[in-house]
Amino acid sequence: MADDLTHPSIKVPAEIQGTVRVATWERFYNWCRSRSVWPMMFGLACCAIEMVAMASSRFDFSRFGMEVMRASPRQADLMIVAGTVTKKMVPQIVRLYNQMAEPRYVLSMGACANGGGPFKEGYSVVSGVDKYIPVDVYVPGCPPTPQALIFGFIQLHRKIEGQTWKDYTWYKNRGHGEEIPLPILGPDLFDPRQIALIEAAAISEQANVEQAAG
Ligand code: SF4
Repeated sequence: MADDLTHPSIKVPAEIQGTVRVATWERFYNWCRSRSVWPMMFGLACCAIEMVAMASSRFDFSRFGMEVMRASPRQADLMIVAGTVTKKMVPQIVRLYNQMAEPRYVLSMGACANGGGPFKEGYSVVSGVDKYIPVDVYVPGCPPTPQALIFGFIQLHRKIEGQTWKDYTWYKNRGHGEEIPLPILGPDLFDPRQIALIEAAAISEQANVEQAAG
């Protein structure tokens, strides 16, 4: 693991390679961040059972410095969306996401969270959590195994290690992240970000009706 830290362009003499690492500050900073991600403790459906199995002794994610699952979004920087995302839950998921510590990440676990899964196009289920919050890593499966989830964590580590100060929103905005407007659950789920699209569709529909009426 420590070998990841050594910058490939910097040559360390062979006799001290076992004890000395030379890295850029950014590489070291990202390496530390990637090994201390704190997930939020919440699950939505059957995938959450696999997430619990992954946290327990047989698989054990404390090897990644992740064992501190937080009950408060303000102390967590990883949301594992583990299970079916119903329309009723979406406003709560977005609210929790907005309250999480920055820089924050989302791992979508399983077919349901990725795209609706076996319930796709059901009246109560959304076709993927990424319609509402940005997803960093998708883990396929129904359910994904604990090993698959661990592989997802490793992909997240790689993503964090590859980030720079310049391309992440939170750094660009000097410590201010982007808040996502809360979807509203009425007769159906309404996303305020879609309002321009809905207005344009309504105007076009109205014009069609008027044209047909002559
Ligand atoms: S992907 Fe499969 S196991 Fe996971 S929540 Fe959906 S139905 Fe359950």
